[in-house]
Amino acid sequence: MEQKKMLKDVAVINTVYPVCHMKTSESLNDTLVYKGSLYGFCSPECKKEFKGRPESFMVR
Ligand SMILES: [Zn+2]
Repeated sequence: MEQKKMLKDVAVINTVYPVCHMKTSESLNDTLVYKGSLYGFCSPECKKEFKGRPESFMVR
């Protein structure tokens, strides 16, 4: 039986993923600390994408 792992009770600063725009509350799978804040991601791929060019995903 395969079950998708999901992080729970993790307080991330984003409510949607910066890369794919899904809700972090629905499929939180990976996290990354960026500039002192904890960000959540749906997958390692999503995190990698953000890590490669975080500025392009940040809304200021
Ligand atoms: Zn994603």
